[in-house]
Formats: sequence, C-alpha cells, structure tokens
Amino acid sequence: MKVHEYQAKELLKAAGVAVPAGVVITEPSEAAKAYDSLGGGLIVVKAQVHAGGRGKGVAVGPEVDRNEALAIASGKKARPEGMAKGVQLVRSADEAVAAAKSLLGKTLVTYQTGAEGQMISKVLVTVGHNIARELYLGLAIDRALQCPVVMASTEGGVEIETVAHESPEKIHREPIDVGVGLASFQARKLCKALGLTGDTAKKGEVFFKRFVQMFIDKDASLAEINPLIVTESGDVLALDCKLNFDDNAMFRHPDVAAMLDTTEEDPAELRASKSGLSYVRLDGDIACLVNGAGLAMSTMDLIKYHGGEPANFLDVGGGANKEQVLEAFRILLSTPNVKAVLVNIFGGIMKCDIIATALLAAYNELDFNVPLVVRLEGTNVELGRKLIEESGRKIVTASGLTDAAQKVVAAAKGAA
Ligand code: GDP
Ligand code: MG
Repeated sequence: MKVHEYQAKELLKAAGVAVPAGVVITEPSEAAKAYDSLGGGLIVVKAQVHAGGRGKGVAVGPEVDRNEALAIASGKKARPEGMAKGVQLVRSADEAVAAAKSLLGKTLVTYQTGAEGQMISKVLVTVGHNIARELYLGLAIDRALQCPVVMASTEGGVEIETVAHESPEKIHREPIDVGVGLASFQARKLCKALGLTGDTAKKGEVFFKRFVQMFIDKDASLAEINPLIVTESGDVLALDCKLNFDDNAMFRHPDVAAMLDTTEEDPAELRASKSGLSYVRLDGDIACLVNGAGLAMSTMDLIKYHGGEPANFLDVGGGANKEQVLEAFRILLSTPNVKAVLVNIFGGIMKCDIIATALLAAYNELDFNVPLVVRLEGTNVELGRKLIEESGRKIVTASGLTDAAQKVVAAAKGAA
C-alpha cells in the first residue's frame, strides 16, 4: 500500500523525524490562508499523487496530448512556457493560489505515471528551505540479506536509479537488524558517508535512527527520502518522502490503513481486495484464475515460457467460495485486452466441483466471448470435470500444466 507525501510526512513527524511544516488543501482559494499560516516567505506548493518525478512533471488539462506531456516530463521535449510543474516554489499568497489552481483538478504526468497521468485532488503547501546540500536516503527490504537495508548517497535530488546504474559505489548500504534498529555505529557510518559533521552529524544520527525505527514499527516495505536536505543553518530535513507498506501487515496498523486513497488504486485491484482475492494487473492478454500464490506464479512463468503474456496475477486462495470465484471471473472478463482465460486449479481445500459450478455460473451470467481453457486436478476432480462436460459449454480442458499453457497461448493467438 502506498501513501501520499503529506501522509508519509505525518508519520515521520509522529516518529520524531524532522520534516518541513505543511498544510494540505483541496481548493485553490485555501492556498492564501495556508501561505500565511506557514509564515510566508519561500513556500512550496506540491501536487499529491502516488508517483515520483513531480518536480519535472507537468500538470495538464484535457486539451493537452498526454504523450506529448510524457515526452516533456521525461525531458525528451522542451517544456513550453507557462506549463505547470508538479512542484512549484512561490513567494506570495497570490502566487500560492495561482500554483494551487494550476494543479488541483488537473492531471499530473511524470516519467513514473506514464502517459495516462494521475488526477491531482490534493495539494501540499509547505515551508520552503534554502538547500545547502541535497542527499538521498532510502530503505528497502533486501531479499538476499533477508533484512531491511538503508541506502544513502550524496547524489540526492536526482533519480537514484541513474546513480545505481552509473556509479553504484556512490550508494552506501547498511543492513538493519530489526530487533535492534539502526545501531549508533551505523548511524555514524551513514553520517561519514554523507559528509555530515559537527552538530549536523548529531542531528543526522537522530534522524536516521528514528527513520529506521518508524520503518520497522509500521511494517513499511519501501521508504525513500529524496531529497534529504541539509539547510544553510545546518539542519537535516526530509523534503520529500515516499512510503510503501506491507499489505499483509495493515491489520495491525489501522492508522496507516486509514490513509488508503482509493482514487489512486487500480479499480480492479481494489475490487478484488474487497472480495479477499489477491489480484495484480499486468500488461499481457491471457487472464489467469489460479488457487495458491505459488501455483499462480508458476502458471505465469509457463505462459511466458510458451510465448504468451499473462494479463494478471490472480490467487483465489485455498478456501474461496462460489461467490468469490464468480467475482474473480467478473474482474477477469472486465479487463480490457483479454484474449483468453486460463483456469488452473489444484484442488486441496478448494474443491474442483466448486470451481466448476462457479465457472458455469459465470458462463451463464457473463459474456464469455474469449476462449476458456481449464485445468483441474485434485479433490473432487472427477465431479468437476463431469459438470463441465455435461454443461455442453465450449470449454477447452487440459491435462497437466504444460498442456494448459500451450492451449491457452494458442487460443490467445488464435483470437488475436
Ligand atoms: P519529486 O520530484 O516527486 O521527487 O518531488 P520532490 O518533493 O522531491 O520535489 C522536487 C524538487 O523540488 C526537489 O528535488 C527540490 O529540488 C525542489 N524543492 C522541493 N522543496 C523545496 C524547497 O523547500 N526549497 C527548494 N529550494 N527546493 C525545493
Ligand atoms: Mg523527490
């Protein structure tokens, strides 16, 4: 689960991590009051969307071609005069209102959103700071080391992907023991790597330790502060923050779960999660309905191995009922671009006849205008197969994983 920058900063602030003061607004007129309440002077107006690259991004209305907007946001085309950026520095209440007006209700296109862009419905008005140094601080789970790893770099403000690719030695890494948090010697190492000295180093140590503890306490899965800045007066501040959380841990963090902005989520993924289905949308054209995450992964691998592209990952789980399976079919068939559907079930707790019944119910209710390939194995498989055969429906049955993958890839190609 992702949250907005302003929400990430609320969590940082609550954990004692230094962030600039700010106010969230949803109407341009509120920007004047927000500007004054923050003490005036240099203020930054920032579009709140679940994507990075806002500083270089463009806020556009329906009249602007989105592919052109993407080319501008990715630096491939010159930015026309007056085209609004996603992050704007202002110096008066009037400028703040104008900046908010150029963002709210518009679509922000950045190199991360793609041409589609994301609707801006909230804007963060925040105190601007004079930047002495722009640094990078990140935290991610390292699967090989099986722990979170802090990444710090003096190359802040730019895309860290570029730094990782071109000069990986500029990223300092510190593995974290989650029972301990960031140890003092590690905090000092980070300060050294970032060139922080004196009082600034002391502030940095406190910042890093609290940041890591917040990550552990809230079951975050990814955190990025880019830029982490040193101000001209030697303070250390998080000027930006992106946070992702482990969905499976959200039940124990109702405060974080309440931050979910459904307008930023994929509607199909949201719908699936409401029915307790694990669904991830992908770019291909073969829809998959599978029980068990491992089987779902290997089904996707097999589809790719035989020359196809999966349209989604969908795990209906071990004990899904008929209604859940029916809903899964509704989601699959409403996905644009689907050319064939593969049902791959290994019945354990899930019984094959339940799947078959749901499948036939789906056939009656929905408009199945794409080929359907079914591979059933396990508990009550005979019963399941019999139901499908006797239905007289045009369903391709497969025996074994390879047969199923080959048949569905051929079906998708035939439909195309
Ligand atoms: P992102 O582009 O989505 O990562 O958005 P950021 O929050 O990182 O803002 C983009 C850029 O705006 C930053 O890298 C800074 O260079 C600049 N910026 C943001 N806030 C301030 C500020 O308070 N003062 C100054 N001088 N620049 C800022
Ligand atoms: Mg940033």
